[in-house]
Amino acid sequence: MVVLIQRTLFSFCAALLLLLPLPASAAESFQVPILLYHRFGPTVADGMTITTPVFEAQMRYLHDNGYKVIALRQLIDYYRGKAPAPGLKTVVIVEDDAHKSVYSDMLPIVRKYGYPVTIFTYPSAISNAKYAMTWDQLRTLKKSGLFEIQSHTYWHPNFKRERRKLSPAALDDLVMTQLKKSKSRLETELGTSVDMLAWPFGIYDDYLLKKASAAGYQATFTIERRHATQADSVMKLPRYLLVNADSGKAFVQLLQGNAVKRNVAY
Ligand SMILES: [Zn+2]
Repeated sequence: MVVLIQRTLFSFCAALLLLLPLPASAAESFQVPILLYHRFGPTVADGMTITTPVFEAQMRYLHDNGYKVIALRQLIDYYRGKAPAPGLKTVVIVEDDAHKSVYSDMLPIVRKYGYPVTIFTYPSAISNAKYAMTWDQLRTLKKSGLFEIQSHTYWHPNFKRERRKLSPAALDDLVMTQLKKSKSRLETELGTSVDMLAWPFGIYDDYLLKKASAAGYQATFTIERRHATQADSVMKLPRYLLVNADSGKAFVQLLQGNAVKRNVAY
């Protein structure tokens, strides 16, 4: 009898525990690496190139090891209270600068795995610089349903350098033009809504963050080499700037939060 009562009591308590919501901090605790790529090719032409076979191997590793790749938009929706927290082994993939190798090399691979990618681009280069994609190519990427295209300012200025050269009023002008013109050009060319910004060279400060909010951006991105967590501000989310050496064991370590420290020169 005593045993039966104890058992019933135990089941009752266990059931009660299941009904209690988890504390917010435990329920929402997550660590998501945002992987930042720049360009691809057969050889490591410069510090920012990842060879296409290395990129393919990284995507295969994610696929074969139970990682879930979500769109950056989905992560941002969490920060803005519109989506649940990402689960374990979640990864986000982004690219800066809209290099033409995104179209030739990256697209076939992410299409194979169905992985979403967010591109941050500066419109002055599109259909203009030899290394960049065209507006038509960006429209094709968007139509694939896998790509979202967002802002990287209008012509990729170094705001630290500009600040030393310009008066405060001239700096204000430059910053607002860079932020607004990029957003409106992308919205017009691609028929999309632009509210995310990647800082050129990862340069940002409180002044620039205020300007980004004023220009209508709701999320901005840096290049700090660590996972994004629930404690981060949606206005300065960290991203891993990947280099070719982040392959094999180094890639696995990076995903696990033990990335090799690197100084990447632009
Ligand atoms: Zn860039």
